[in-house]
Amino acid sequence: MNVKDVIIIGGGSTGCGIARDLALRGISHCLIEKNDFAAGATGACHGLLHSGGRYAVADTDAAAECIAENRILSRIGRKCVEQTGGLFVRLPGDSKKYRDAFLKGCERLGIETEVLSPTRALELVPSLNPALEEAVRVPDCSIDPFRLCMLNIVSSKARGGEIFTHHEVINIIKERGRCVGVKLKEKLSSSIKEIRGKVIVNAAGAWAQRIAILAGSSLPMTLSKGSLVVTNHRLSNMVINRLRPPSDGDIIVPNEAVCLAGTTSVAVDSPDNLEVTSGEVETVAWEAASMVPEFEDVRLIRTYAGVRALLNSESLDGRQISRSFQIIDHKNGLFSIIGGKLSTYRLMAEKLCDAVMRHLDLKRACLTAEKPLEGQEELRGYPLSDRLESLKDIICECELVRRSDVERVIQRISPKHIGDIQHRTRLGMGPCQGGFCTYRALGVMQETGKVSPEESIEILKEFLQRRFKGIRPVLWGDQLREEQLIEYIYLGILSMESY
Ligand SMILES: Cc1cc2nc3c(=O)[nH]c(=O)nc-3n(C[C@H](O)[C@H](O)[C@H](O)COP(=O)(O)OP(=O)(O)OC[C@H]3O[C@@H](n4cnc5c(N)ncnc54)[C@H](O)[C@@H]3O)c2cc1C
Repeated sequence: MNVKDVIIIGGGSTGCGIARDLALRGISHCLIEKNDFAAGATGACHGLLHSGGRYAVADTDAAAECIAENRILSRIGRKCVEQTGGLFVRLPGDSKKYRDAFLKGCERLGIETEVLSPTRALELVPSLNPALEEAVRVPDCSIDPFRLCMLNIVSSKARGGEIFTHHEVINIIKERGRCVGVKLKEKLSSSIKEIRGKVIVNAAGAWAQRIAILAGSSLPMTLSKGSLVVTNHRLSNMVINRLRPPSDGDIIVPNEAVCLAGTTSVAVDSPDNLEVTSGEVETVAWEAASMVPEFEDVRLIRTYAGVRALLNSESLDGRQISRSFQIIDHKNGLFSIIGGKLSTYRLMAEKLCDAVMRHLDLKRACLTAEKPLEGQEELRGYPLSDRLESLKDIICECELVRRSDVERVIQRISPKHIGDIQHRTRLGMGPCQGGFCTYRALGVMQETGKVSPEESIEILKEFLQRRFKGIRPVLWGDQLREEQLIEYIYLGILSMESY
């Protein structure tokens, strides 16, 4: 029988971080993820490695966690953290009182700041609104959540961690009131497996309440949807924040070849079937344009949304609830971890693993803050232009992904979804959103014999539907024209209409 010390449910940043932490402490574990890594809030976030500035006035615990982890991740994760730096910009009408409180808060928390004149800020980011009154420089960074998850998993796998992606936990096995294992279903074949464990960790993010219910426990949570838009090029090389209390559309993050802007905060009952409304697109683009006016007419190429899982609070709305995290020992062998940030995933994992170690009566120190993430040697770093060694064999021009990168992933994980390749190489994540490179990648998959022609049609159909869902809310002007070309390629040249 397959028995582990710890079973982790959820392959977002929290679950992957826990897997790495347990691996480095020598604890046997497995991780179960119903889709691919980073399929929940992790892959749907801004990718901002917070300096803590955003929370320095009203959520100082979260801010202190952010700055400490920002420094650690910048050290241990050089190939997934781009040292962009960030600016908080104060526009006409934005409160000077808030600015003073911001600077004071940052000073108290040890977050480095530099107040910049409009001229200096415009030298750093020429696309900024020239009417800005001032800007404050902070050590914000851009972080790749997909790479982050994969790199954490490298350490887990290297030390015997078993990883089940595309497997969903459908039940928790209980004996005499205690959780002793899980039942999981493989998504493609629907086959059922059983794994036993001494401790079960619920790192299922916005789905954590459902896991708790399977275990007969309760976990009241507030769910808040945030929507983002993606631009067709990089409008700023630094993270841009609005110098005001956190609100809609006040963050722009450079992300490889594009920029991500968001978000909104809308209470939702379920984390599934998220839709981005045209009203949300307008709000985000409008607010982003007040900081970077090019947003008024830049081509938006996609939208996406994720759900924040926040500690329940009846009296506060989504933006007011602390971004710190909570660990709950349900006293039946199940531990849940909710709240927090991508930026603080390592600390969250450390605290959760400390609690699990106490429960197992074991003493082994956490090593994740000292050891660099393993597997980074294989990755190319920043900036993107440094990756331009040769145009030969490039499959994805937007993100400069080579045929050999795609082949390596195919050999390692035999992917059955195009997303499995995207998340590991960034194929299709740039301006064309996979329009011009997905069919090439599928061709490589077929050539290697890992998928049959029939399977590749199914993979392509799933991809096109998912892609269209994200693109539909921004279909106007040039983006609509480009989309018609892509539609022609798939429906006309590749005859997808007949499938
Ligand atoms: C719009 C938005 C923007 C954000 N921006 C930032 C940012 O810029 N910086 C930052 O630091 N933080 C940001 N955050 C917060 C951050 O994204 C989250 O705190 C973090 O990613 C949560 O990670 P997680 O692993 O706990 O949850 P998730 O990433 O949601 O992972 C949970 C996983 O559990 C899996 N799962 C669920 N049920 C099951 C089951 N039954 N069986 C198997 N697997 C299951 C899901 O598929 C999912 O992959 C943002 C959040 C949102 C929503």
